[in-house]
Amino acid sequence: MRITMIGSGYVGLVSGACFSDFGHDVICVDKDQSKIAALEAGRMPIFEPGLDQLVATNVAAGRLSFTTDLAAAVAGADAIFIAVGTPSRRGDGHADLSYVFAATEEIAAAVTGPTVVVTKSTVPVGTGDRVEQILREKRPDMAVAVVSNPEFLREGAAIGDFKRPDRIVIGTEDEHAMAVMRDVYRPLYLGESPIVFTSRRSSELIKYAANAFLATKITFINEIADLCEAVGADVRDVSRGIGLDNRIGKKFLHAGPGYGGSCFPKDTLALLKTAEDYQSPVQIVEAVVKVNDSRKRAMGRKVIQALGEDARGKTVALLGLTFKPNTDDMRDAPSLAIALALADAGVVVRAYDPEGAEAARQMMPDLVYCSDAYDAATGADAVVIVTEWDIFRALDLKRLKQVMAAPVMVDLRNVYRRDAIEGAGFAYTAVGR
Ligand code: NAD
Repeated sequence: MRITMIGSGYVGLVSGACFSDFGHDVICVDKDQSKIAALEAGRMPIFEPGLDQLVATNVAAGRLSFTTDLAAAVAGADAIFIAVGTPSRRGDGHADLSYVFAATEEIAAAVTGPTVVVTKSTVPVGTGDRVEQILREKRPDMAVAVVSNPEFLREGAAIGDFKRPDRIVIGTEDEHAMAVMRDVYRPLYLGESPIVFTSRRSSELIKYAANAFLATKITFINEIADLCEAVGADVRDVSRGIGLDNRIGKKFLHAGPGYGGSCFPKDTLALLKTAEDYQSPVQIVEAVVKVNDSRKRAMGRKVIQALGEDARGKTVALLGLTFKPNTDDMRDAPSLAIALALADAGVVVRAYDPEGAEAARQMMPDLVYCSDAYDAATGADAVVIVTEWDIFRALDLKRLKQVMAAPVMVDLRNVYRRDAIEGAGFAYTAVGR
């Protein structure tokens, strides 16, 4: 099959590379010339484990190519995926659909024959209807079906998630489009990934409901963590104790600094806007958004408290800046709110992240960026584990203590055992313990 992927970011590039690895012919389009130039030169514009190898193999096999020329890429495609960004609209929290509609207009101008347009971007209920309307108005001569196919991959584990998904959701009632989508995903039948065929609107809502549910689960355990601190319980034991119940499940029960990233914050907000538009409130998600926002600020206060009497003029080392390990994505990372709270309190922030420093520097130019954890900890009055990169899981505590001004650790990901850290002479603060 010939597949065109419009938008070559975290989702478009991984999806395109995986589709080509299944044997399809894929062209990835992006309007960002520097991204396409990098890809053509064999450099990845994002950090995602295994992606460079996957791209190189499929480029070499002649199944994967990159272009800024959308019109040429669209001509003759069996399926055209839209995987452009849908960030929060500035000011009101609605999903900003301008990139989706701009891409749709460009597709309309370029299609040369019957095809299927697939929205992989996360889009509010009814977006597919509008995409279809634009295509019908601009190209009444063309039979173009519009399908919703939301993506559930996780950054940092994106290739595995794409190739072995828990499920594939396809929203369309058009027989031909269904057949095309079956062909697109046929290689996954062998892995027995279930396909959920449903209406376009249900499919669009499934994505938001899934993210809102996961955000709720995280926020739930974070509030239970606060309660654990108040009553003298250990949230890790509580998580395990409830997570072993199959009805609850173990995943997404790790207490921490609050959810961030490129999806949960914007998708929970967008769901609330849809609920508002249709006068059907989702109060549980309203609470989740509120609790999570205040949690990020509370984590800043937790660090300041660990510094003792007067934080002003002290130095803190932040280990990990990205919203989770194994990505360079800084969008809505909890580190942003924590660093801001520290700066407001007059604290000097030294920071290290294995992959996210470049993106972080654009957003937080005032931090001191360091070459590793020990460099960051040099002269610091506290070291804070913000993101649980593997490299922070077995720090040389003796070396750390030697370079620090005061041996204080704030472990916002509960990576360490209290007795090990206190045994090494540190004051230790964790989450929910
Ligand atoms: P991204 O910002 O990394 O990539 C989007 C790309 O689209 C950018 O490179 C941009 O230049 C390009 N683009 C925008 N308009 C274009 C146009 N008209 N023509 C060509 N290229 C264009 O975004 P992302 O993280 O890949 O997310 C894409 C969508 O997938 C969003 O709706 C997001 O919510 C959803 N999603 C993201 C993830 C994730 O983990 N990042 C997971 C599931 C779903």
